[in-house]
Parts: sequence; structure tokens; C-alpha cells
Amino acid sequence: VPEIAFLGRSNVGKSSLLNALAGEKAAKVSSTPGRTRAINFFALNDESQRRKIVFADLPGYGYAKISKSISAEWPKFIEPYLAERETLGLCVCLVDSNVPPQKRDAQLLDWLRSVDRYFVVVATKVDRLSGNERTRNLAALRKGLGIDEIVPVSAKTSAGIKELWARIEGVEVE
Ligand code: GDP
Repeated sequence: VPEIAFLGRSNVGKSSLLNALAGEKAAKVSSTPGRTRAINFFALNDESQRRKIVFADLPGYGYAKISKSISAEWPKFIEPYLAERETLGLCVCLVDSNVPPQKRDAQLLDWLRSVDRYFVVVATKVDRLSGNERTRNLAALRKGLGIDEIVPVSAKTSAGIKELWARIEGVEVE
């Protein structure tokens, strides 16, 4: 069963995006016990390929206001998961379209490249931007993060949700 990991800084809009993608189709199947910041796994049906797919909701990182320990704690179980998980087919990396490129996100993408992971970068909350701001911010994010493509989405208006699903359904795992 292919797994899709969702990553991003705290407050980026990850829970909202997961709800928009999965809706009531999502069934929580398991989580790493005994941790407040666990990886939560959700099993879903991939309608186009008629297979099961698993979403892995990773703890948010880099939000100093919540806890300093999150960034320090994060790599301990997340990095091994991201580097070694055989069934992991795609990392969906979330960045906020309202915020300039963040060093922590750029570092994460560099690290994913270094461990040869496929990833797609998603820009959240695009409903908050005017057309001009959106064009400008997306260009700044592509440049700042060193990527050719970014998928703009809004959990509020459902913009980009179909496009993201298409990317997820195209994932293959050998
Ligand atoms: P998480 O911490 O990454 O899981 O982020 P949440 O999904 O809890 O969202 C953080 C905040 O951003 C909340 O106040 C949400 O209402 C807001 N938010 C999330 N997605 C969107 C969106 O698509 N549009 C707008 N306008 N706000 C959003």
C-alpha cells in the first residue's frame, strides 16, 4: 500500500488540507503511541486505481511559540521514517502562500533530495491572496525553495484539491 507523507511547519494548514483531501473517507488506523507529536496514519480509497492508499500526517515543525523541543524532537523519529520507509511514495510538503520562503522549509527539501525522496510542494491558503499577490508569492516561493513547480491550494475554497489528488493517485511504489 503506497504511503503519502504530509509535512509542514505548524499552522501551515495541514489539518485543514487533509480534511479537504480526505473528507469523511479518512479512517484513522493507527498512531505511534505514547507521543504527543506522533505520526498519524489514515487509510483511504484511491478511487482511480482502486487500491488503498495511506496518508501519514507528520507532526508540524519549526513553530518556536509552541515548543522549542519540537524542532529538536522532530528529526529523532521523523528522519528515519522519511529516509527508510519502503512504502513511502511521495512527500507532500506544505508551505504557506502568505509567507515568504522559510529557511527551515528549504532545508527540509534539500534533505529530502539528499535521501532521494519524491516530493511535491503545495502552497496553502491561496484564497487569502489577490491574483497579483498570488502570482508574486508563488514565484518567490519557487525561487526561494529552488523548485520548478508549486501546487496552489485552498482548503477553504477547495481550489487545487483535485490537482493534488491527481498527483497522489499517480504515485507508484515498487
Ligand atoms: P496545521 O497546524 O498545519 O494543521 O494547520 P490548521 O489546518 O490547523 O490551520 C491553521 C490555521 O490556518 C487555522 O486558523 C485555519 O483556519 C487556517 N487555514 C487553514 N487552511 C486554510 C485555507 O485554505 N484558507 C484560509 N483562509 N485559512 C486556512
